[in-house]
Amino acid sequence: MALSKLLGALAAATVLSSAAFAAGYPERQITMVVPFSAGGPTDTVARLVAEKMSADLGQQVIIENVGGAGGTLGAGRVAKAEPDGYTVLLHHIGMATSATLYRKLAYDTLNAFEYVGLVTEVPMVMVAKKDFPAADFKAFAEYVKANPDKVTMANAGIGAASHLCGMLFQSAIQTQFVTVPYKGTGPAMTDLLGGQVDFMCDQTTNTTSQIKGGTIKAYASTTPERLAIFPDLPTATESGVPALNVSIWHGIYAPKGTPAEATERLSKALQVALADPGIAKAMGDLGTAPSAAADATPAALKAKLESEVAKWKPVIEAAGVYAD
Ligand code: ASP
Repeated sequence: MALSKLLGALAAATVLSSAAFAAGYPERQITMVVPFSAGGPTDTVARLVAEKMSADLGQQVIIENVGGAGGTLGAGRVAKAEPDGYTVLLHHIGMATSATLYRKLAYDTLNAFEYVGLVTEVPMVMVAKKDFPAADFKAFAEYVKANPDKVTMANAGIGAASHLCGMLFQSAIQTQFVTVPYKGTGPAMTDLLGGQVDFMCDQTTNTTSQIKGGTIKAYASTTPERLAIFPDLPTATESGVPALNVSIWHGIYAPKGTPAEATERLSKALQVALADPGIAKAMGDLGTAPSAAADATPAALKAKLESEVAKWKPVIEAAGVYAD
């Protein structure tokens, strides 16, 4: 009897504290960790969304860039953060690929996080420095295959989207070229513009203005259909490399143990942000679109991460690419 009374009191206290939490949350600013450098494509998406989420939450969502090790340093930081609803992670497909690419990760991908929702899916484009000696994607692929020890490909480290695209490209044309890792493709773009690296595969959220400005060359998109913003740019598939078909989905996570009241509140703010016409316009100009409200939910992101870990595992194992 005494025990059941105690359990009842404990249950009531839990309900009370989570209700009190829900009513007051958020009471201060929220940190959104971006696991890549400032100025790159993941950062661009995060800043767009954070600004609109801040308005709905009534508290600032500030960005903290924790680049390095293909996004796994930033993800690790959030996995170990206090699960209080005040630290979240905006990461992309690399959350799924790094689960297999890394023999040792500081966190257990499928068990270290709570989910907020999907944000957007961003196409990629294979781009090269302005004077790269190839007129189209076919000639580009042939040149890379013929000169693997001469050309260099920038990426954001093992586990990055740019790494995944490069890995698929290497497998498709059966060669191994030199890759140059950065903490994000923002700084990699600076070096591409300066000609210090030769080519890169990156999200349209980072490549669009440079392609439009003619400061880099675009060879192909990684999408099944041509991009509306670049109708003259062929897809890799129509250029004879169907394996280069990848779209970079982004999601928001919280450390395991974050109260559901917080992740649900954040998910609602995400849905409000993604429904904002300003976001649709800004994303549209960068070749992407906000996720639908039904996908900006914890359940949709959980399902996506689980299916993507399973999808990429055999591809990575077949390519035999690993990091320690
Ligand atoms: N685009 C990068 C990647 O390859 C990340 C970034 O800098 O946002 O994953």
